[in-house]
Amino acid sequence: AGPSVPDPAAAGPGVRSGEPSLLIDGRWVRSGDGGVRQCLNPADGTVVATVDEATPGDATLAVAAARRAFDTGPWPTTPVAERTALLHRIADLLARDSEQLAAIETADTGKTLGESRIDIDDVIAVFRYYAGLLASAADRLVDVGDPQVISRVRREPIGVCVLIAPWNYPLLQMSWKVAPALAAGCTMIMKPSEVTPLSTIAFARLITEAGVPAGVVNLVQGSGATLGGALTDTDEVDFISFTGGLATGKTISRVAAEHVTKVAVELGGKNPHIVFADADWESSVDQVLTGVFLHSGQVCSAGTRLIVHDSIADDFVAALVERARRIRIGPGTDPSSETGPLVSAAQRDKIETFVALGVSEGAELVTGGTRPADPALADGCFFLPTVFDHCDRSMQIVQEETFGPILTVERFETAEEAIALGNDTAYGLAAGVRTADLDLAERVARALRHGTVWINDFGYYTAAAEWGGFKKSGNGRELGPTGLAEYQETKHIWLHT
Ligand code: NAD
Repeated sequence: AGPSVPDPAAAGPGVRSGEPSLLIDGRWVRSGDGGVRQCLNPADGTVVATVDEATPGDATLAVAAARRAFDTGPWPTTPVAERTALLHRIADLLARDSEQLAAIETADTGKTLGESRIDIDDVIAVFRYYAGLLASAADRLVDVGDPQVISRVRREPIGVCVLIAPWNYPLLQMSWKVAPALAAGCTMIMKPSEVTPLSTIAFARLITEAGVPAGVVNLVQGSGATLGGALTDTDEVDFISFTGGLATGKTISRVAAEHVTKVAVELGGKNPHIVFADADWESSVDQVLTGVFLHSGQVCSAGTRLIVHDSIADDFVAALVERARRIRIGPGTDPSSETGPLVSAAQRDKIETFVALGVSEGAELVTGGTRPADPALADGCFFLPTVFDHCDRSMQIVQEETFGPILTVERFETAEEAIALGNDTAYGLAAGVRTADLDLAERVARALRHGTVWINDFGYYTAAAEWGGFKKSGNGRELGPTGLAEYQETKHIWLHT
């Protein structure tokens, strides 16, 4: 089947219909057993493209290629100046093809073109950031108190990396791994989500065009259950960087432990957004809404749990509901759409189950809870922005990551209660605090056990600052200097002159 609207195969970096889509050892190849998978557009159910579905044997070949490329070089020992230049070249090619990449991302995930464009800009930024960071890298000299000894601590590439990404920010999440892995001098196997592989295929073509040596970046796609063993249950891999759900993260960590393979997992979140009575009203209403309903709530850091001061709660929820009902839902390619569909029918089914659960737990459904009535959207996986008021910390709807457009509302009276509620989650990815009192904001921000805390803002990040979770939201960090260190080993060289 050929690609449909918008045509990601039209030119340049696209997923060219009929061409092989697995990259192993510098060659584009088909699946070992000829298997293919259809990628559906969640806005209308049409087939966007058909891609090759890797077998475990293909994944093993990809690991072997990455192993050879690491062990025989030259990438791990390529001079820093050349590696820096290559990262910039990749960024240039991404910029050249950014519109096509955004169109592919929208066709595959359903997110609006505006959101996809921001994603691609951020992908470019992460390559530029690590190019800059690399340029300033140097060994650390240690004074051991003996003038005849030169002691140096240096960072070396960790080796072969398996990079596993989810479907909500397919290219963005993959770039947070590929950019530092390349900067460090590692070789790698990219495994995008089987739900959204298209932008990563296009990206792999750009990486090849940029001149990355054969075997340094390999790409297999297919179901995690099928490929997981070949990619993780092996001594040939040195580091696994995984972004996805908690259950998968646990499985991968258990398998990797048998091989003493280093693992960094970036998992889910149930992120509190705390609003005090003196918070700026307009920006708070705006950002509570975008914080939870952006990309239909399919964001690991979505502010799904509103914790609002009792004195303003009724009015605040009324304002939210009034605005939530006016959010324009539609295909991501329609410039008037403010949010697109859920990524798949399976995801929509899951959200419907969560709504039924919330109702059965006694939460008050104040808006949404259903698919939109508009018949023009009937073939897509759309779901209305949904708000549950008068929720309680004991409810599953408050504690479990729904990964959909569902906001729950809890009330508090004192700052201590707000902090306790904000920390009352197994996760710890991100949180927001809104108040005009910056001393109070700082106190709350420090008390919250979350990897990112926004004060009077929500959802922003930068390539230069670390991203990651406390508690069950993960154990690694991406972005920033720590995001590079994850892909490096530390070596001490002691020289007696
Ligand atoms: P998922 O865990 O189902 O899948 C993630 C990836 O793992 C996919 O590529 C999948 O094919 C692969 N996979 C599945 N089983 C595997 C196995 N046994 N071995 C190896 N790989 C396997 O998650 P998802 O539904 O794609 O993504 C949604 C989740 O991702 C949410 O929980 C979300 O919060 C999380 N997420 C976290 C962050 C973060 O920065 N912390 C960012 C984005 C998404």
